[in-house]
Formats: sequence, structure tokens, C-alpha cells
Amino acid sequence: MSVAPETTVVLGNRFATELPELAVRWQAESTPAPRLLVLNEPLSAELGIDPAWLRSADGMGLLGGTRVPAGAEPVAQAYAGHQFGGWVPRLGDGRALLLGELVDTRGRLRDLHLKGSGRTPFARGGDGLAAVGPMLREYVVSEAMHAMHIPTTRALSVVATGRPVRRDTVLDGAVLARVAASHLRVGSFEYVSAAGELDVLRRLADHAIARHYPAAADADNPYLALLDAVIAGQAWLIAQWMLVGFVHGVMNTDNMTIAGETIDYGPCAFMDAFDPKTVFSSIDARGRYAYGNQPTVAGWNLARFAEALLPLIADDQDRGIALATASLQDFARQYAAAWTAGMQRKLGLPDDIDDSVVAELADDLLAHLERDQVDFTSFFRRLSATARGDAAPAFDDDWVARWLALGPDADGMDGLNPVYIPRNHLVEEALAAASAGDMDPVERLLVAITSPYTERPGFERYAEPAPDDFGCYQTFCGT
Ligand code: AMP
Ligand code: MG
Repeated sequence: MSVAPETTVVLGNRFATELPELAVRWQAESTPAPRLLVLNEPLSAELGIDPAWLRSADGMGLLGGTRVPAGAEPVAQAYAGHQFGGWVPRLGDGRALLLGELVDTRGRLRDLHLKGSGRTPFARGGDGLAAVGPMLREYVVSEAMHAMHIPTTRALSVVATGRPVRRDTVLDGAVLARVAASHLRVGSFEYVSAAGELDVLRRLADHAIARHYPAAADADNPYLALLDAVIAGQAWLIAQWMLVGFVHGVMNTDNMTIAGETIDYGPCAFMDAFDPKTVFSSIDARGRYAYGNQPTVAGWNLARFAEALLPLIADDQDRGIALATASLQDFARQYAAAWTAGMQRKLGLPDDIDDSVVAELADDLLAHLERDQVDFTSFFRRLSATARGDAAPAFDDDWVARWLALGPDADGMDGLNPVYIPRNHLVEEALAAASAGDMDPVERLLVAITSPYTERPGFERYAEPAPDDFGCYQTFCGT
């Protein structure tokens, strides 16, 4: 490892300094033949880092983890988690590193983190590596989420390492540079709470409050206020996922952030035809993380978070449980409110329409979509075209007449219902090309999905559902 003194990137060590019990100083593995596959220039600018410098050998060294800025102290973070409902006391960054925190051009503190940077003490049986395809997948899907205004970690770059990665076949290794509000997870709290270290738990909670929910510090019960803030963030986040047909695929508690950002794009995918049972992940045979289960699972994860916080919420356990339970019970209401408000906007309905009318109209709509296996994303664009008289309704029913009678705003709908999402067949096609050395399809897909609402000539096929012969889509974890 060498230090690049001329870099202007200043990384803080706040996490490592405030929570040494959760930080293992570590360094990335070498990258035998680094190649920058994709760089997020708008995000570089937001971070105040010159994209031209990131393209230089030194910059690529930062993005691949081999040249650490002076003063930075990369760490692997410890966390625990419930995976598919089962408790795992020690997970942690098995193939990732927190390089440090930086202040962006808007004054926000952001984590700069690497994924695929080699084995750490948390690697268990894993090789610590990541392949080009899955890292580009995270890049594309997280940027699509960001473009749709859904809170998410961001992808700064993917560097191919030149190191072979053994999976079913031998693949090209890659390191993803990821930017996040933080990498604090429900599993971070579970890790500390399970160890029974009350002073560390309090320090972790104070760190989370200071970083993400400073107003909670002034509440009567700051730790209950932290729980409430995380519940509110997740209620909103999961509603946004549901409104765009996003299936995360592996909603383990270690993959749920305290900041309310979507994280860990492994087996995630977007649903085509509307069906609550939609599952893509090859290891989710029972459908625990199916599209329609996501709100329930989020509530379950938040209950694990509340359990971890209990000793801080009240000295008396029964009182802590009563307070936390009341907070958790409000999750369903907040989720439903966020979802209904989102549906109201997707359907272009005026603000003064009663929530119960919106909810009933939306529920009836979903029943139709499911019955007729209608493509979820393109439906809403077709609906606005129907309102303008430019397209026939997607189904023959009085639902459309009921909706039209409410005076929908077709232009408003087009401003928030995406034309382009990273559809599974497009992602697969682009990743296959990239793995064969051709980045053009990834670049073109990025052009489509980073301006998701603006229909453009030449991108027609990016707006269409998968061809019938695409078949049953499966995604894979831990790749
Ligand atoms: P994920 O399902 O990607 O959130 O990962 C779950 C856990 O497995 C985390 O602790 C990861 O760090 C770890 N992990 C996943 N893939 C690897 C790998 N190839 N090598 C080491 N650890 C890994
Ligand atoms: Mg994870």
C-alpha cells in the first residue's frame, strides 16, 4: 500500500474513532491490473472530487483501495444480523472496507466504502472478492433508484481488478466504490446489544443520532426518538420501493440501514407483471422476501432494532417494551399513509381527494393488474396516455372510467412514473456484454435509467417489458 500525498481527498475516521469496538483496521488487497470500468462524474462533483483526478492512476488507486489518502484509516465494520429470520451473531464486512468519511459540497458527511476489496477478519468462508457483473449491477440499480428519488447508497465507480474470481466459472474481479449517509445497520445495533455492552450501545446510538437524527437528542427520550425516526424512514422507504415494483431480495437485518437508505444490491430486481408473490432470489425458496412481503419484513426487522435498543429506552424492561411496542405499532399506519400518498401521485389524483377513495381505487387497480398480469411500470405511462386520449385503456373495465371521473393530471403523472427502469433482461444483456469487455450496453442503459421520466427516441426497447422468451428470472446472492 502506498500513500498518495498529492490527493485532495480528505477522509475522516469518525466511525473508527468513536466506535473502535466495531472497527477493525484493515487494508485492501492489491489489484494486479486495475481498469476503471465506470465512474459516476455527477457524484464525484457532489463529493468535491475532481473526476479527472479519479481517472488518473492515483485516483484509480483510491477507488480500488490500494492508495489510501494520508490520514485515512480504513476499517472493516463489525455487525450481526438476522438472515432469513435466523440469528447470526457475527457477520461484518467480509469483503468490504470503510475507507472513511468525507464532507460533500453540501456539507453532508458521507461514507466512502469499498466492496470486493479482499478478505477481512469477517470473511468466514468467503474469498473477499466480487465479480465485475454483480458490482456493475449494484451500480446500475442503485443509480436507477437515486434517479427515482428513492433514498439509496450511491455507486461512485467500478474498477476491474485483474484478479480472477472463482464462482461457477472464473470471472473478472472488481471493486465497487460506494457512498452512503453511513453504513450503520440494524445489525450494528444487534451486534453490540447481544454482547451486552451497554456503554458501547449508548455510544453507537449517540453516534447514529448525531449523524442522522440530531433532533432526537433533544427529545425527552432520545433513544425512543431514534427508534421512531428509523421507523419513519423505513416506512417511507419501503413504500417507495413498492411504488416502483422494486424487490430487494435479501432484507436481512444487516441489510437495513439506520439512515433509511436502500443498501446492498445483491439479488434485487424490478417486478415486470404485477404479482405480490414475485421472488427473484435463488435462495429465497419460501418467498420470505417476496415483493408483497416487504412491508411485513421491514416491520419485523424494526422489531429487532427495537429489541436491541430496549436497554437504552427504559431502565425498566416492561416499560421499555411498552414504549417500543407502541412505536412499532405505528409502522403499518405510516407505511400505508406513504403508500397511499404515493399512489395518489402515481395516479395523478388531485390533493383534495379523500385517502379512503384513493386507497380503494388503488386496491381495485392492483387486483386488475394481478388478474391480467399487466406490466407494472409501463401501465402508469399508458394510463396517462389514456387520459390524453392517446392510448386505449390497459384493461376493459369501469375502473378507468371511475379514475377519469376524478380528473387526473396526466402531465404530473409522467413526471413521476418512470419510463425506464433497469429491467431484468436489459441488465442481464448489459452485464453479459461488460463481462465480455464491451461497456457500451451498460453506458447506454445508464443513459436511459438516469433520466427515467423523459421518453427519448432510440430508447424504445428500454421501455418495454421482457420478451416472452426471457423466461423465469433468477438472481443470486453473495456474488
Ligand atoms: P450480503 O448478503 O451481501 O449482505 O452479505 C452477507 C454477509 O456475507 C456479509 O457479512 C458479507 O460481508 C459477507 N460476504 C458476502 N460475500 C462475501 C465474499 N465473497 N467474501 C467474504 N464475505 C462475503
Ligand atoms: Mg449486506
